[in-house]
Amino acid sequence: MRYVSTRNTNLSLAPAEAIAQGLSRDGGLFVPETLPHISAEEIASLGSMDYCGRAVSIMSKFLDGFSITEIADYTARAYGKNFDTPDIAPLRRLDEKTYFLELWHGPTCAFKDMALQVLPYLLTASMSKNGMKEKVCILVATSGDTGKAALEGFRDVEGTKIMVFYPENGVSDIQKLQMTSQEGGNVSVCAVRGNFDDAQAGVKQIFSDRALREELRENGFTLSSANSINWGRLLPQIVYYFSAYCDLLNNGSIIPGESVTFCVPTGNFGNILAGYYARLMGLPVNRLVCASNRNNVLTEFIKTGAYDRNRPFYTTISPSMDILVSSNLERLLYLLSGGSDAEVSQYMRELAAYGRYQVSEGLLEGISACFDAGFCDDAETKAVIRDTFQRSGILIDTHTAVALGVAQKLREELGDASTTVVVSTASPYKFCGSVLEALGKPVSGTGPELIFTLERETGVSAPAPLRALRSKVPRFNGSVGKEELMSQVRHFLL
Ligand SMILES: *Cc1c(COP(=O)(O)O)cnc(C)c1O
Repeated sequence: MRYVSTRNTNLSLAPAEAIAQGLSRDGGLFVPETLPHISAEEIASLGSMDYCGRAVSIMSKFLDGFSITEIADYTARAYGKNFDTPDIAPLRRLDEKTYFLELWHGPTCAFKDMALQVLPYLLTASMSKNGMKEKVCILVATSGDTGKAALEGFRDVEGTKIMVFYPENGVSDIQKLQMTSQEGGNVSVCAVRGNFDDAQAGVKQIFSDRALREELRENGFTLSSANSINWGRLLPQIVYYFSAYCDLLNNGSIIPGESVTFCVPTGNFGNILAGYYARLMGLPVNRLVCASNRNNVLTEFIKTGAYDRNRPFYTTISPSMDILVSSNLERLLYLLSGGSDAEVSQYMRELAAYGRYQVSEGLLEGISACFDAGFCDDAETKAVIRDTFQRSGILIDTHTAVALGVAQKLREELGDASTTVVVSTASPYKFCGSVLEALGKPVSGTGPELIFTLERETGVSAPAPLRALRSKVPRFNGSVGKEELMSQVRHFLL
């Protein structure tokens, strides 16, 4: 299988090339030229495998040039003892028709681990398959979850170094300590005196500085990024949609062929897009529900076909979804336009020039055939956390609560009676303050102390990596001005 750019289908790359390059030089994203089909029999046979087996079966269909042994080696290293359950991505029953798919049992307690635990192996193998001899340095600007997940994924991976920049006052106490206490011999973390946009702009500037890239090359380094536009991050996410379906079959909740609705808390549109790929490959998916917080640009887009980023940006209690430009939407436009690079390029030009575009009637029909959308504000989100805990004893985080709230609203509105899987993307213990508030409990103390308060108030134990934060000492205390990122990178590498 080859990969093409969403903005130029004449450009055709092998999987290893698409993964090593990350972003196409024309600004487009890499997408598979064709999609493999997974038959009902094959889905049934996945049911008897463990998570790694399922991952190997599905990922190998997209990775020509990688042997089954290689892929099995990556998944065994990615999805093992570093997760706190052998199920890796377990389903948890809320009621007869509603399940959570818990994607936060990895080392950083957010769903980014599902892809970032395996990406380092895919990336380094891709580079060596392409004959690239350099060490790769991953640069990340993060607003919270991605930075820690990338650090943990790349830590002590041979042939790599990783440097993360985060906005000094833009992440939660827990997220900050998670990053500043990061272990590993090839990592560096640095606070930026500015907001997330400043950190991101600084990193982009480094990527586009030819002189620096040349100097790094002479010293044996190449720069790369770990954000969700890389196909190597999307591919591992397709697996858990199949895995959840297999688990529903195995526990008797559904019969073979029965279709299931997935409701996904959405930011950059990577997670839900993986669900759409699963559907195109033959997984019986009824509806994909795109759940947003008050930054509801995607709700409007899915309902009307109009994407308009010209709107206020709100800071909410579900910060990983505070985003106005969802990069992975470009891949959906490509799929729904029947692979028209010209149409995708036109929308992206309009987005760049005016901050908005309106898709064609045909494309909107394609969206409506599969997607629904809705949003919850912070007050609704908190009410969902409280109600869910009171009725089931299940404690959910703010992002998962947005998805459950939207799933409940839409189920009534649309009369959808199918089994619904609410995708649960973070441990509630990553957002202790908001969760305590939602439960009507006092919030006092700093991040790590709140973990113990929440445990005491709910009787639900926190994941071990977060409990361990209390005794962690920050290794990386530095902060730099937004003009100093380049010198930090040079200092780290040269
Ligand atoms: C990143 C993230 C999301 C959004 O996922 P996308 O793939 O960007 O749509 C939702 N919830 C949490 C907790 C996240 O970290």
